[in-house]
Amino acid sequence: MNMEEREQLREWVVNSDNIVFFGGAGVSTESNIPDFRSVDGLYNQEYDYPPETILSHSFYKKNTKEFYRFYKKKMIFKEAKPNPAHLALAKLEQEGKLKAVVTQNIDGLHQMAGSKEVLELHGSVHRNFCTRCGRFYDADYILEAKEIPLCECGGIIKPDVVLYEEGLDYGIMQKAISYIAAADVLIIGGTSLTVYPAAGLIDYYRGKKLVLINKGITPMDRRADLVIAAPIGEVLGMFLE
Ligand SMILES: [Zn+2]
Repeated sequence: MNMEEREQLREWVVNSDNIVFFGGAGVSTESNIPDFRSVDGLYNQEYDYPPETILSHSFYKKNTKEFYRFYKKKMIFKEAKPNPAHLALAKLEQEGKLKAVVTQNIDGLHQMAGSKEVLELHGSVHRNFCTRCGRFYDADYILEAKEIPLCECGGIIKPDVVLYEEGLDYGIMQKAISYIAAADVLIIGGTSLTVYPAAGLIDYYRGKKLVLINKGITPMDRRADLVIAAPIGEVLGMFLE
């Protein structure tokens, strides 16, 4: 991140009270939560199927036990803590500058950092519901279950996480769209923008301050008004000073 990029971002943020942040897996990897899609990440000899298969609705239905073996070990990270990106976004919201965080992550770290308006497009590992009676269970209950977590009523508990083959929550999508459509500054970070629905959501932005923060090049770079190739925690961390 050079000085000019840094100052441009600072100026836009300082002068706005209508910022929206859209974040992907890269925001969490800086809290040591691996991106399950990354090649050197989770898919190894330990499992017979790639993560995209295990984390699908049909696999969950057919192989619930194996689903949970993977899920408990690879999707819930109890020790993870918010990093400077999460903390800076929470601070900007508190200061009345940031309106919402739209995230593809399911780890709840934005809320842990203090963010209030968090739109979790893919759900959260911290919410789990009995498929029979609807009773709520936290992540600890899932982790402590021997194999398949069961409700007191005997029903199977399912995480409130959007699996492959499942649709996104319509209400959350609509809210995300209206925040993005009304945003003055849109900051996108930690996503390659190749995964649905990230690319589509950005089409709703009408402003001229689209900031892209990513370590690698993304297909959207040309559409951005400011591209910063640096770790997201390092970039947003400047707003904690
Ligand atoms: Zn139940």
